[in-house]
Amino acid sequence: MRLLLVEDDKALVDDLLPELRQAGFAVDVAPDGREALYLGENEAYDAVVLDLGLPLMGGLEVLRRWRGEEMAVPVLILTARDSWQEKVEGLKAGADDYLTKPFHREELLARLQALIRRAHGRVERWLEAGDLVLDEEHQVIRKRDGTTIELTGTEFRLLRYFMMNSGKLLSKTRLTEHVYEQDFDRDSNLIEVYVRRLREKIGRERIETRRGQGYVFKG
Ligand code: CA
Repeated sequence: MRLLLVEDDKALVDDLLPELRQAGFAVDVAPDGREALYLGENEAYDAVVLDLGLPLMGGLEVLRRWRGEEMAVPVLILTARDSWQEKVEGLKAGADDYLTKPFHREELLARLQALIRRAHGRVERWLEAGDLVLDEEHQVIRKRDGTTIELTGTEFRLLRYFMMNSGKLLSKTRLTEHVYEQDFDRDSNLIEVYVRRLREKIGRERIETRRGQGYVFKG
């Protein structure tokens, strides 16, 4: 899952980044409203964490513009404590959820995961396919026979994206966009390498190749 973190408080960003990455997010950071607007319009994010008090352009304005352009990405706003007006304005501007500063990291992660789940029309907590269950917390696959399959960070991000979009045709470009951060050298051939590794772990038949088009994950 690719995440845009919009926050001008560098200490908070430095604090959050390792945790978000650890949780399997590829994270881009925007330190001001204009960059946030640009990145949101030009990159493929699965969720956005948006601070409201930002240099150059306020978070609410950024959000209104995105929604005005019919960008449907789930957005969680960070609001000042005790400002119910900010929460109401944010929700009216199209935010999906909010969190009041200061907040607990676990709550941010849980809310983000819930937002992304809902955006994909999921109700259940677990991503499942046949005898495989993806344990998102520990980033491993648990098989129904009780065995566990370890995953590297990239394998986990790729498999989660496949499982969330089970049955859909996914191009290599799209997979690359959702699995890697912006600054990463995005060689889409790498996706082939990771698909091969995933197949070795979960079975060839789970990921079908559509020549010249991409891949389809079989749920
Ligand atoms: Ca701020």
